[in-house]
Amino acid sequence: MRNLNLKIIETKTALSKSRIPGIDYTVNPYFGCEFGCSYCYADFMTRFSKNYSKFFANLRWGEFVGVKINVHEKLKDEILKLESKISLFPDKKIKKPNVWLSIVTDPYQPVEKKFMLTRKCLEILLKFQYPTGILTRSPLVLRDIDLLVEFENIEVGISITTDNDNIRKVFEPKAPSIKSRIKTLEKLKQKNIKTFAFIGPILPMDAVNLSKEINGFVDYVLVDKMNYIWKTEKIYRVNSLDFAIRDEYFSAVSEEISREFSSKEIEIEILF
Ligand code: SF4
Repeated sequence: MRNLNLKIIETKTALSKSRIPGIDYTVNPYFGCEFGCSYCYADFMTRFSKNYSKFFANLRWGEFVGVKINVHEKLKDEILKLESKISLFPDKKIKKPNVWLSIVTDPYQPVEKKFMLTRKCLEILLKFQYPTGILTRSPLVLRDIDLLVEFENIEVGISITTDNDNIRKVFEPKAPSIKSRIKTLEKLKQKNIKTFAFIGPILPMDAVNLSKEINGFVDYVLVDKMNYIWKTEKIYRVNSLDFAIRDEYFSAVSEEISREFSSKEIEIEILF
């Protein structure tokens, strides 16, 4: 495994307006992602940013992380500005926008242990009680459970792409084990935190088994197919997994997952 190329970056802004339906703003404390999943769409997006050409040109996805060391300070300033706008129109009862960590990269990738920027951002969002969402695949989110339980409105999603850890090792070898992710959902649920599983991209799996393992620990489930097939085609081929890269496979898996969760009256949304 190659060494991680780490750079401390001063960011000019923290909140980014989101184009994802239902998400108002996102905050990405880190640029790049140590987990380096083979199918990651952020890899592609990152190539066009100034940070990439300035600090990480020619490095591969998963080999670099930019640490936005002042992101929490910027977030505080921007939240204060939003608050003063809201307070100008008290009669209109303007709702606070929601903020998601991080969407483009994982907010609980290993560098977070040291820099704690996700935690610092959460402290600010908690102080002003902004509706908050988290999407991660890391059990490190449990470190911040003391903050999560204090939010009036928070949800935590765990990305789980298969039930088979050998398959996980093929496509996302640096990411946490599947077992640890399911355990994370269970622990969050024990604290009454709203949770969801993001089953995407669908990797080769036993869909019924995965559904059974997650059942009881989630309030809802999102499912997505492998969207960037050109990135992973070779991995499927050399591992004789071609059967699982077809649209029919994605449809069959999502139907099985839908059947399992619908029968338990758990909301499920298929994103493709
Ligand atoms: S954890 Fe998420 S952001 Fe990080 S490499 Fe994997 S898919 Fe991309």
